[in-house]
Amino acid sequence: MVSRVIPVDPFDLVIFGGTGDLARRKIIPGLFRRFLSGQLPADSRIIGAARSSMEPAEYKSLLEEAIKEFGGDEKSGADELAAFLNMIDYVAVDAVAGDGWDHLKSLMRDGVVRAFYFSVAPSLFGALADKLHEYAIATSESRIVVEKPFGHDLPTARALNAILAKHFDERQIYRIDHYLGKETVQNLMAIRFGNVLFEPLWNSHYVDHIQVTVAETVGVGGRGSYYDNSGAMRDMVQNHLMQLLCLIAMEPPNKFGADEVRDEKLKVIRALQPVDPHHIVRGQYDAGSEGPSYREDAENARSFTESFIAMKCHINNWRWAGVPFYLRTGKRLRSRSSEIAVVFKDLGHSIFEGDEARHRNILSIRLQPNEGIDLQMTIKEPGPGGMRLIDVPLDMTFADALGADVDDVPDAYERLIMDVIRGNQTLFMRGDEVEAAWEWTDPIIKGWEIRNDVPKLYEAGSAGPEDSMMLMHRDGRKWREIR
Ligand code: NAD
Repeated sequence: MVSRVIPVDPFDLVIFGGTGDLARRKIIPGLFRRFLSGQLPADSRIIGAARSSMEPAEYKSLLEEAIKEFGGDEKSGADELAAFLNMIDYVAVDAVAGDGWDHLKSLMRDGVVRAFYFSVAPSLFGALADKLHEYAIATSESRIVVEKPFGHDLPTARALNAILAKHFDERQIYRIDHYLGKETVQNLMAIRFGNVLFEPLWNSHYVDHIQVTVAETVGVGGRGSYYDNSGAMRDMVQNHLMQLLCLIAMEPPNKFGADEVRDEKLKVIRALQPVDPHHIVRGQYDAGSEGPSYREDAENARSFTESFIAMKCHINNWRWAGVPFYLRTGKRLRSRSSEIAVVFKDLGHSIFEGDEARHRNILSIRLQPNEGIDLQMTIKEPGPGGMRLIDVPLDMTFADALGADVDDVPDAYERLIMDVIRGNQTLFMRGDEVEAAWEWTDPIIKGWEIRNDVPKLYEAGSAGPEDSMMLMHRDGRKWREIR
């Protein structure tokens, strides 16, 4: 299958923090892949802006290295790389001082899309926004892109929103949650709202429960000091898992527009019930054969930060009354796998005598590995011997089903950056959504602090603490296997 690539309008994209880890690992290699696909007009420019003083040529070699290391495209030749690097420029700027800003202003062109990617610590967002305004570099049509973490709690998120709102309208602000850029996550909306089959069943009459699992094998090594201040709740649940939850649970928007979708997501967050502390399991990985303990990784021998969370939530509305949503995420787990599973209710009555098994339809949406969707169905076991029933998956692994060359499918960052240039905010978080998410998360975290909650240790390479299994067992359910 040949994917249809529609070139975006010419742009000037300034990456503040252009020498940093995120720029080198994700943003630049992603832009290079979009360039190879023919999506970037040749007269577009990517301007790295960071504190280090260096010549554009030096910056280009830094990016060349980054593309070789993280580009993931062995097919491109030297000519293509040279053509891409031709679009690159560099300016040394200091967000908190006057250096470099006149130079940056002199590079800006009229008549092209202007976007500013804040790939720097959030503490610099305000200074950058002020400078863009002070030097009249940003226009009323310019866009800014900001990264997670968007706040540490509700007051800090509100403060960040206020800082950005000083110079930019909400329609200019693109808050990235890269989970929303994943192909499968968007497919979740296609499945729900593009098929007649599922929507009639997508409610408390037919759904027994929903599970969302985001399991990682990596530990926190390398970013231990950041993570230790944050934990799984702030780093994963407040943003990525809640975004997934919103897309599963939201009402159909009247059209696939940025505010229509975000209005519906916001209603879900606002309808989330406060969580009973007994319905949350916090865990921290212990040392295992594969590596050190969390505390060693975080270099904090007394850390009580969680590297694992499992929780049961409820959404207080008509559609979802009584349906539990189980969320689970953690580091150093058995495998790197993420999925959303919609587990439908049992049949009320079986006509098949002697069939004692509990057959359930399960719609599973896999984010990784092997992005795809499968629907567990009950069928007759082939062959003689009467009506013996078995459960089989109707499997649609995208790479198989669509014959897609997986390399041609843009990754989350690529897609989202292209959406910024196109001016499409649908897959970005709105300020009120982020605040509402913190409003729900803050009391949970506060509760742990007040109770001096100690996370349960779990073995690295396992499926998390035993208590997480119990959370399900108590309800007569079980987690799907982390494979
Ligand atoms: P980094 O420390 O590797 O890079 C920081 C960049 O900011 C450097 O280019 C540095 O020159 C620049 N910088 C620092 N002080 C500056 C100043 N006063 N003026 C101008 N530039 C300045 O950080 P990173 O890992 O690239 O992360 C950038 C942002 O993205 C952070 O907010 C981080 O939380 C977020 N983020 C990073 C990742 C990741 O995978 N690295 C993932 C998600 C979110």
